Amino acid sequence: MEVTSTAPVTVRVPAKVNLELRIGPLEDDGYHSLSTVFHAVELHDHVTVRAADEWSVTTTGVGAGIVPDDDTNLAMRAAKLIAARIGTDERLAIDVDKKIPVAGGMAGGSADAAAALVAVDAFWDSGFSPRELQDMAAELGSDVPFALEGGTAIGSGRGEHLVPVLSRGAFEWVFALHHDGLSTPAVYAECDRLRGNRRIPEPKPNTALMAALRAGDVDALASNLQNDLQDAACSLMPKLTTTMTTGLDNGALGAIVSGSGPTVAFLCADRTSALDLMVTLSASNVCDEVVSAAGPVHGAHVVHDVRHR
Ligand code: ATP
Repeated sequence: MEVTSTAPVTVRVPAKVNLELRIGPLEDDGYHSLSTVFHAVELHDHVTVRAADEWSVTTTGVGAGIVPDDDTNLAMRAAKLIAARIGTDERLAIDVDKKIPVAGGMAGGSADAAAALVAVDAFWDSGFSPRELQDMAAELGSDVPFALEGGTAIGSGRGEHLVPVLSRGAFEWVFALHHDGLSTPAVYAECDRLRGNRRIPEPKPNTALMAALRAGDVDALASNLQNDLQDAACSLMPKLTTTMTTGLDNGALGAIVSGSGPTVAFLCADRTSALDLMVTLSASNVCDEVVSAAGPVHGAHVVHDVRHR
């Protein structure tokens, strides 16, 4: 198919934190079913695509040095998936500007894949429907569909089946980042090890958490944050427990390991307490970097004026 090439396209895509992550029993295929509540926060990567003679992917920003620059890069996989679907031989240069921590449990790679899908679709004006983009996203990875959607949503299956959640207002978060990442498969394996032979029920969403989101009740949300991978992440990286205690002792209403970690997310009462907590955590030595971000925010979308990012 002939494609219409245009000026470079930049897409902004958010990180996610799981407000709830319930992990089911280990299944025969080696995976776990899960029930999760994704929440997109205003910590963004930017992915730009432009016409080029050869395929390439270049990463700048936080953790860029450990992001692959070959076909294993999720943004590259997403771009080539669209190229294959529309049957073009044209090539693209992909630039990824990272703010989302790499291997931080905030789905940065999945976010870049979602951003690349949206950017390449817009660049070649390929006209895929939202449903077709969602199907391609699910093919690329179970966290990719949510990065397309953003907002707050229940994820089931492996996380790829999404239902939006009604939520009122905005929530203020502080994220404590650790530069030594945790491997997601290693954290799941540790979770299985810690569970031993215990019988694990099928995971399902917590109705009290849904009610807290519907009401915009930050205290109720804080007391219903739940992550079944948290013990495993803390077992592999014991300093996470100290990080969580430090935040809770300094004004956070709630604390949770984000996804498979090692990022720790703190829920704050308002913007002022989030800024106070940022200052305290930055002055402590319990993490490598601190950022604040509100949520929920929109999923991957084209930005027309990249100067203000
Ligand atoms: P999740 O929360 O989905 O488990 P994560 O946030 O812990 O993921 P990512 O930042 O997505 O972790 O990175 C996981 C691994 O994926 C990295 O170690 C990196 O080698 C690889 N990777 C491939 N493409 C990318 C990309 N575009 N950005 C970041 N990492 C990528």
